[in-house]
Amino acid sequence: MDRKSEGPAVKRHLIAMGFNKNNVRVTHGHGTAWGWLTVHADIHHRPGCSCHFDGINPMERADECKKLWGEVYNRIIEITQQTTGRHGDYDGRIGVNLNFFDK
Ligand SMILES: [Zn+2]
Repeated sequence: MDRKSEGPAVKRHLIAMGFNKNNVRVTHGHGTAWGWLTVHADIHHRPGCSCHFDGINPMERADECKKLWGEVYNRIIEITQQTTGRHGDYDGRIGVNLNFFDK
């Protein structure tokens, strides 16, 4: 799949798989990162999770949200590979920038 088609195709597939269109973005690298494709996504905490922030240190993440993060990360890699046919080193040079919304 050519570079220009990848972004929209991956985004379409992610939306079809249940991601909110406002919470996902697909970008390509420049310069030395030219071959990389990165999916940026924001997800919500599990309802009622026990993640907490003490005001100083990074948020302490509860097990249920660590697990959720890992599941979503793997799903994004899988969907992106299926869509683009990318494979090989670094999951086919696919990056995932996955963050939680603030609680
Ligand atoms: Zn949480």
